[in-house]
Amino acid sequence: MPQLTVVVPAYNESDVLMVFHRRLSKVLDSLSLDCDVLYVDDGSKDDTWSIIEKLVADDPRTGAIKLSRNFGKEAAMTAGLDHVTADAAVVIDSDLQDPPELIPALVEQWRAGFDVVYATRSAREGETGFKRFTAAAFYRSMNQLSDTAIPRDTGDFRLLSRRALDALAQLRERQRFMKGLFSWIGYRQTAVRYLREPRQAGTTKWNYWRLAQLAIEGITSFSTAPLRLATWVGIASAGLAFVYGFIVLIRALFYGDAVRGYPTLMLVILFLGGVQLLALGVIGEYLGRNYAESKRRPLYFIEEQRQPRQLH
Ligand code: UDP
Ligand code: MG
Repeated sequence: MPQLTVVVPAYNESDVLMVFHRRLSKVLDSLSLDCDVLYVDDGSKDDTWSIIEKLVADDPRTGAIKLSRNFGKEAAMTAGLDHVTADAAVVIDSDLQDPPELIPALVEQWRAGFDVVYATRSAREGETGFKRFTAAAFYRSMNQLSDTAIPRDTGDFRLLSRRALDALAQLRERQRFMKGLFSWIGYRQTAVRYLREPRQAGTTKWNYWRLAQLAIEGITSFSTAPLRLATWVGIASAGLAFVYGFIVLIRALFYGDAVRGYPTLMLVILFLGGVQLLALGVIGEYLGRNYAESKRRPLYFIEEQRQPRQLH
């Protein structure tokens, strides 16, 4: 029987884990696959790990990894996927926003020959208009700027075939924008639509600040367009300065010049200063990434590991 591992990153999810596991188990029972579950505790500060240990003790097909600290969801997913030995893996959030009931539909597409089957949400219930707007703006600019198309309204909930997993395992960059990496590897990809539910319990770990950081990370790790932005703004402002300089020259020739021009002088200085700072910021963003990358640090450390008692 083909094997499937469900990877579940969890950070401070003690409120939902039990419910989640019950719902997931029911779905896995219905599949004619050799399934197991791999929880990744991303350095939770509540009793997530003790709940996971209990789940491992109660359910023989459950395994777990505990990271040495909170490394962030992208690293937690990577840790989980690195440990998958099955023929395919599903990544799913533990807060029940990704319905486990969709897994059979993902599996069906995998059996039809697809390597990456991602779940695309049709609605964003329980999310504010502002979050929906910023999300839409992000996907739009991301796809405009980058050569790697990121599917819209797609989270990390997806199924990966063995060769997709092997490909992903070779991408060890630190700036892990997983949605981008998933689509960058290529192979046969397809989508399954579903209705995204509001979070079941607990709170989201993504405030707007972290989301903004993720967006910058997504754009800078998949596109160098912002570097070109500096060039274009430079060319535009130089062009304007030339035209204006010409006007000033003509006026001085015909009318002479008193000590006027202080406001325009300030305007030009401030404008150019702003443009230069912007360009420096953009370069700095890439330089910082380069610096983090060049240290070649491991992506995560494992503190404890539990094998499922019932191995493939
Ligand atoms: N998560 C994680 N590490 C983190 C933050 C989140 O492993 O540092 C997990 C979290 O437990 C959940 C999933 O990633 O299973 C998605 O997190 P969340 O629900 O906060 O994000 P959202 O649904 O708002 O995108
Ligand atoms: Mg969530």
